[in-house]
Amino acid sequence: MPERVLPVRRVLSPVRFFDERRLALARWISERYVAPLAAVLGAMVPPRVAAEEEALGGPHPRGVRSAPPASGARPGAPVAPASGGAVAAGAPVGPLASYVNAGRLIDALRGGAGAFVLRPAPEDEQRLAVACVGEALAGGRRAILIVPEADPLPATAAAVLEAFGSEVALFLGGDRRSRYRTWLEIAAGRYRVVVGTRPAVFAPLPELGLLYVSRESHARHREERAPYHHVRDVALARARIEGAVAVAAALYPSVESSILGAVLVEPRGRRWPPVEVVAPGPEGRAPRLVAALRSARRAFLYEPLPGYGIARVCRACGEPAACAGCGGVLRRQAGAVRCAVCGAEGRCAGCGAADFGVVRGGAERVEEWARGVAQVPVARIAPGDRPRAPGPAEVLVGGVEAVKDLGPLGLDLVGILDADLAARRPGLSALERAVATWFEAAAWARPSGRVIVQTRRPNDPAVQALVTGRPERLHRAEAARRAAAGFPVGSAVFRVLGSAELVEHLRALDPTTLLVSGSGAATVCLLALELARVPAFGRLARSLAERGIVTRVEAEPHL
Ligand SMILES: [Zn+2]
Ligand SMILES: [Zn+2]
Repeated sequence: MPERVLPVRRVLSPVRFFDERRLALARWISERYVAPLAAVLGAMVPPRVAAEEEALGGPHPRGVRSAPPASGARPGAPVAPASGGAVAAGAPVGPLASYVNAGRLIDALRGGAGAFVLRPAPEDEQRLAVACVGEALAGGRRAILIVPEADPLPATAAAVLEAFGSEVALFLGGDRRSRYRTWLEIAAGRYRVVVGTRPAVFAPLPELGLLYVSRESHARHREERAPYHHVRDVALARARIEGAVAVAAALYPSVESSILGAVLVEPRGRRWPPVEVVAPGPEGRAPRLVAALRSARRAFLYEPLPGYGIARVCRACGEPAACAGCGGVLRRQAGAVRCAVCGAEGRCAGCGAADFGVVRGGAERVEEWARGVAQVPVARIAPGDRPRAPGPAEVLVGGVEAVKDLGPLGLDLVGILDADLAARRPGLSALERAVATWFEAAAWARPSGRVIVQTRRPNDPAVQALVTGRPERLHRAEAARRAAAGFPVGSAVFRVLGSAELVEHLRALDPTTLLVSGSGAATVCLLALELARVPAFGRLARSLAERGIVTRVEAEPHL
């Protein structure tokens, strides 16, 4: 019992929202991300819909009726698609059989605990998730699969749903009422598997054996609202607290995952498509790529820039083109020139004219020239379009919004264009995000296609990661780069807002890095510190907040 308990004034709900272990998790999150415990507890549960509590018959809706079983899976039946039944513990069979450290992973899944980084071969990504969930269930425990995106339903989520049918609670999308109902059913023990986006990491699943984070390096695993947690780190903490297994899986695992002390599970031998590195050539078209495209039946061309090109010069006055409103870059896109920064219609900052000389480049232009080359139809996934796989005879062009978990596609050709842009994007983790996207697109060339990457920096660690299909060298380069920038991998980063006094208090913490901007009442501090110092920072931030010196703390901002 805590030392001090205030009298209960009102009972809000008969539902039990957390137990001791989820309270321990909430305390960990509260401390790690310096967020009030009550706010954390609030974030762990979907908004209540009281009518749903009554519909389920109060706090312990044990007798919830099952939905009819799907795809042959019977609720309560032993499910072990990965092992196929009577197999000695730890003997890796199925898709895990060819993986280093698979035995340790399987032993842990069946009844142990631990942290694992899983680097699937491209064609195994979905099957491995199914296998891991199957092993946890075979051990009599339950599993959570967390995917970064809900729509379209990621192939990994679909595979688990298909394998385990009515055992699975799909905890993504839906309206408030259905989300809350699903949450209550999960808490009641109705499901053995939960599949969902970020909030699923908190799913009140009893007898938890596995938290599986799919596409671990994906940016959407970080919560953009308080407490600003990262799903990978919460999954690891929850696994520690509940004696479960946490698996961080990705074709390209992040540099953060490399310092967790987790067991690495990866394929024995190289299973990665051949990757050719070529110089971009005239207007970003390497002859090698053009030739490959001519004979390709199914291909994907990744072009990170949207639009048709960038306005360089005003045709009326000859000045360099810039937005009249904000001075931003003007981009030709969907037939019109607009400011890429503020979205205003493109007008010359010098004379107001709207006629520009455009330097061609971007997904629309790639679509145009690919049409002149390919022997099959060419289409483009525009921002806002529904991502999909190329048809049986089709070339697709698209940017980051087109690269989703679509499952193995078996394409003839994947082209990675404008690879050198990745290094120029602002943000400390922008390069890794780009590389993760390259890996996911390149994986579509398995088992018999090839990848062509256009770059002027063939020896760059990011390009070499793509060529080899291995992350280690890039991890080392990234770790060095981030340390040099003052934000070593594994340190905690906070953006703290408050008054000018704030700076001196933070300096006293002896942080790794303290960057100060703004002044007076709107001082902004960017703080990097060793994890061990976070509790001290948290205490300081709370006491400074009480005195009005700190007005806001944001954990792990995108840098
Ligand atoms: Zn503008
Ligand atoms: Zn002009």
